[in-house]
Amino acid sequence: MAKLTTRGLRIDSGGTGGGPVTIAAEDVAGALGMGRLKPQAVLVGRATFCDDNRAQLELAKWVQQELHRRCRRNGWKTDYCEGLAQLCVFELVHPLRCVHCLGRGQLWLQVPERRGERIVLVERWRTCPRCKGSGRKRLTVRDRAAVAQIGKSQFADVWAERADAMLSDLYGLQDDVLRHLWKQFADEAA
Ligand SMILES: [Zn+2]
Repeated sequence: MAKLTTRGLRIDSGGTGGGPVTIAAEDVAGALGMGRLKPQAVLVGRATFCDDNRAQLELAKWVQQELHRRCRRNGWKTDYCEGLAQLCVFELVHPLRCVHCLGRGQLWLQVPERRGERIVLVERWRTCPRCKGSGRKRLTVRDRAAVAQIGKSQFADVWAERADAMLSDLYGLQDDVLRHLWKQFADEAA
């Protein structure tokens, strides 16, 4: 849905209609502050699209507090929130690219298609099966556990799922940011 290019941040409409827009890097931060994004969404936007180190630290602090709330609510140990927050923010801000599709999320493939009586091979973009279209490659369980500072088996058995839930909420906030930016700049272009 979004890609950082040398010219700025390129955002596709994500199926809501309209073409992609490119927003100059220096305009992104300002646009995040306009409108009604949640404060944590603004942090996600600044941390991921503005290369803003302070925002990354503030976001890690917010994630740690949010994890703490979740642990308290569910009666889980609260000892690991700081390490888990580091992990979530690291994976959000520095995603590894899927080596299968080079981060595109799609592969240009020859696929069989029926044309009347015949089956012909045509070239089509297909969702990458390795990363299921995300373009992202996960860290290994060993590396994730190390970043979170939790033993590997305990991380895998108990905490990986909880970290993933938090991470997927962060990706949700990132989607909010992209929709917000796209709307603002698409309106301007129209
Ligand atoms: Zn892939």
